[in-house]
Amino acid sequence: MKIIIIGAGPGGYETALLAAKRGVEVVLIESGHVGGTCLNEGCIPTKTFCKNAEVLDSLREGETFGLTDLTYGFDFSKVIDRKNAVVEQLRGGVEGLLNNKLITLVRGKASFKDAHTVTVTPGATPVTIEKSVEYSADHIIIATGSVSSSLPIPGADLPGILTSREILDIEKVPSSLCVIGGGVIGLEFASIFRSFGCEVTVLEYCKDILPRFDTDLAKRLKQSLSKRGISVETQAQVTSITECDADAYTVSYTRKGKEETVTAEKVLMAVGRRANVASLNLDDIGLEYTQRGIVTDERTMQTNIPHIYAVGDINGRMMLAHAATFQGIVALDHIMGVENQIDLSVMPAAVFSSPEAASVGLTEDECKERGLPVKCLKSFFRANGKAVTMGETDGFCKVVVAAEPKEGAQSPYQPGRVLGCHLYGPHSSDIVQEACAMISRKATLEEFQSVIHTHPTLTEVLQSAIHSV
Ligand code: NAD
Repeated sequence: MKIIIIGAGPGGYETALLAAKRGVEVVLIESGHVGGTCLNEGCIPTKTFCKNAEVLDSLREGETFGLTDLTYGFDFSKVIDRKNAVVEQLRGGVEGLLNNKLITLVRGKASFKDAHTVTVTPGATPVTIEKSVEYSADHIIIATGSVSSSLPIPGADLPGILTSREILDIEKVPSSLCVIGGGVIGLEFASIFRSFGCEVTVLEYCKDILPRFDTDLAKRLKQSLSKRGISVETQAQVTSITECDADAYTVSYTRKGKEETVTAEKVLMAVGRRANVASLNLDDIGLEYTQRGIVTDERTMQTNIPHIYAVGDINGRMMLAHAATFQGIVALDHIMGVENQIDLSVMPAAVFSSPEAASVGLTEDECKERGLPVKCLKSFFRANGKAVTMGETDGFCKVVVAAEPKEGAQSPYQPGRVLGCHLYGPHSSDIVQEACAMISRKATLEEFQSVIHTHPTLTEVLQSAIHSV
């Protein structure tokens, strides 16, 4: 068997490695750096910035921890150097792993010649093939990811308007930053640049930040960010951006019928990402896609052409690196007829703001919309011993559990089954993983309650929530 995989991000390269491990020959085509958005201009570089932000925040609180007469400078060029070094180290690791006799890594741009044949043309950066080559295979997996979206408003394409890629390489910390979009990317950069000493304003179109997250969590996180000096305007519809002088932009928006403006040295556009279908020549082979991305079967990742699969951001299902990796496993298993127990609907997600937020499973709002009877169990980090010792008590945890339906009503979930967990506070991105394990194994509250948590740890915030019945 031979597989072509287009795109070497976490969807493509992880699938290629697994396929090779199983003895399958793979042609992996990449037009940029291996590692994709996640490693080169997403998860990994932003997390190096998060560490810098954390160090700076700790220094600001130095006196609380007995550090007196602290003086320090902040050399932003070193932040960028460290970020680049981390990315290069990890990229080298991936390149090393891909150096496998069953994997042919082709550096070029892929497009479909027909449903079984892909043409790769030169033009990749930083390394490219010299002339076009054609490859054919029994199965093809498309994993070409996504690109930043923008707004169809005047000024959106002014040269100084940054995307999440460009902001990773700015030369200095701006004195002020206006972030358009209070989603995951917007809040992560707002939080980071606030820690870097920048005046930050976030403009979010919806009623709450993080529209897909639990409302309760979003409201509380907004308060936490405001306490840190980040100005967050919700229900703000951005209408235009103008350059007001060489070093500043004015962002105009309407809020509750009133025209308002924010002036900032830099503007970050963080209004979502769109599937990268460009140049694949999908129309010619009749492969179905919408504005959201390539249409796939939710269980197998198969497209309308059965031997072609699409995994990761390109299918628009869940734009998360780990979702791409696991969709890749699901696709490969389907190709090879291997059974698995992966439930792609139980997908954890984290926002690496300060404090962090994380979520898995159904939210209380979703349950209400679907008429599912639930009870919500809550706890607070301020009552968690470890959080108090760390001086990081801002945060809460909510566990959503299926409840007994009213007489005559029905629910697809057995009462007591744990359906979701939503939290913000220190290390939420790690803590959520335990809830994810329980939810993906369809655990009941009683089973969850029987798990012993080490004391004193932040994970006890989960224990407190599930025992709060
Ligand atoms: P997003 O969809 O999470 O958020 C975009 C936000 O912009 C939304 O809140 C939306 O309401 C708002 N918006 C849209 N139009 C607007 C307007 N005219 N004015 C003001 N606000 C407007 O998208 P994102 O934050 O750009 O992230 C893209 C994808 O990448 C997401 O799917 C995200 O989950 C993923 N991602 C994940 C992580 C992580 O897992 N930590 C990190 C970065 C990105």
